[in-house]
Amino acid sequence: MRIVLKRGKDKPVRRRHPWIFSGAIRQVEGEPQPGDIVEIVASDGQWLAWAEYNPQSQIRARTFGWEQDRRPDEAFWRDKLLASIARRRQLMPDAEAVRLIFAESDGMPGLIVDRYGPHLVVQCLTAGAEARKLQTVAHLVDCLQPRSIVERDDPIRRKEGLPPVAGVLHGEPPDEPVVISENGHRFYVDLRSGQKTGFYLDQAENRRALAGYCADAEALNAFSYTGAFAVHALAADAKHVTNLDSSADALDMAARNLDLNGFSPERWQNLQADVFQQLRLWRDQGRQFDLIILDPPKFVTSRRQLDRAARGYKDINWLAMRLLRPGGLLATFSCSGLVSRDLFQKIVFGAALDAGRDVRIIRHFSQGADHPVLLSFPEGAYLKGLLCHVA
Ligand code: SAH
Repeated sequence: MRIVLKRGKDKPVRRRHPWIFSGAIRQVEGEPQPGDIVEIVASDGQWLAWAEYNPQSQIRARTFGWEQDRRPDEAFWRDKLLASIARRRQLMPDAEAVRLIFAESDGMPGLIVDRYGPHLVVQCLTAGAEARKLQTVAHLVDCLQPRSIVERDDPIRRKEGLPPVAGVLHGEPPDEPVVISENGHRFYVDLRSGQKTGFYLDQAENRRALAGYCADAEALNAFSYTGAFAVHALAADAKHVTNLDSSADALDMAARNLDLNGFSPERWQNLQADVFQQLRLWRDQGRQFDLIILDPPKFVTSRRQLDRAARGYKDINWLAMRLLRPGGLLATFSCSGLVSRDLFQKIVFGAALDAGRDVRIIRHFSQGADHPVLLSFPEGAYLKGLLCHVA
């Protein structure tokens, strides 16, 4: 089965960008079904790549192989999986909670595998990853001997025409949350009903980096989820941390995590509220902090939402700057892939102008080494952040 590209549409494929949109396709030969492996050829018939096909997705095909005589079979995928795991062992040998496979960025479109100690959590976000799910599970069991493998759904699956899923793919995951360690601190992770795969692993390095700026601070951890930044801050001698999140479940888990790490309740507080409203309320009350962490969820999933998202980012950043004491620090993040690092910095600049504060960038944040960015796939870079000194 082959996909023939339109004239002039072969360049991104030659440059190994993994996505082929419907508009680039001249002809589909054979009758490939969602998830089937196809060959990509240029308009002049020249062979380009192996790819997986999905007629139900805007991204019609995703490439992953560039050797014509290596038809992707089980051994091919097993090699990719082993290489991906080996990169983590090389780059972060001590990490107990780590993303082992980061989809396109690891050459395995749509496949996410996160390790939480002896347990694995899998997400299949494309038809190809879905079609190979059982094979992937067999390879994971063989290579890592996990105690369990849990599957989690993601709304992205709907864009690929895939049904909701959730369940156990291997072994018996515990009913209770598991305990993992990150940077020497311990955290409960709910593999079955936590957000995403249970924990925001992409922030591990930033949590460690931020700890260096927490001493004696009265801190606000906005969009706290289960309090991972709060635990790092208190361990680094922050005076007090307020966790702010709209999810009661997340805050319950944050309380358990703070307790697990031995912090007395006098040093922290949980507040269930909408960040946008709460920051406004505090502004009106004149409440102040020394350090504010803003780690909101993804505000944009399509270009059409970009303007609204930019306003959302500006709003919380502007309010946070207003709440900081002179010389306070703002750690501000965006995990929206469509908001570039450049644009994000401009938004934060706009917020600073409106807040009337002199703001300096102290350092840049990005995603951890287990969320690598493949140079041929810059879209894989999604998490960016700034540590700002707010005078
Ligand atoms: N900083 C966290 C991850 C944040 S994920 C960590 O290090 O683990 C984003 C969080 O924002 C989620 O917990 C979600 O419940 C919360 N959230 C989303 N919209 C919100 C809003 N408008 N107000 C408050 N919390 C919100």
